[in-house]
Amino acid sequence: MNLEQITVGEFHQRCKAQGVSGRMHVALKCPVCGTVQSLTSLDRAGVPAGKQEHYIGFSCVGRFTNAGPWKKDEPPGRGCDWTLGGLFRIHKLEVITADGEKHPTFEIATAEEAQALERLHEATRAPG
Ligand SMILES: [Zn+2]
Repeated sequence: MNLEQITVGEFHQRCKAQGVSGRMHVALKCPVCGTVQSLTSLDRAGVPAGKQEHYIGFSCVGRFTNAGPWKKDEPPGRGCDWTLGGLFRIHKLEVITADGEKHPTFEIATAEEAQALERLHEATRAPG
């Protein structure tokens, strides 16, 4: 298994490279179910604003929609109950902070994936 370690600066650089309209649309990808998700996804799933930053890239959005475990061969999108805090460590990306702490995180989605998710969220925005 390949584990990539990047600095916080590099992480932000890659998020910026997604070309989305703002931080609410920066997208990460669950390593189990492959579902692309952003702070907006968590927001729509009912995660309180103060908690969204805590869960993004760490706990799959499916945990907040009661998606349950991912089923093999299921297409991504529904989410699953995965969190990186569990017993099995399968993440492929770690962000290293200035003080040397390692933070496992979901992989950063591609620009296409992130922009597609933002368009989807824009298209399904609640009226008003
Ligand atoms: Zn998932």
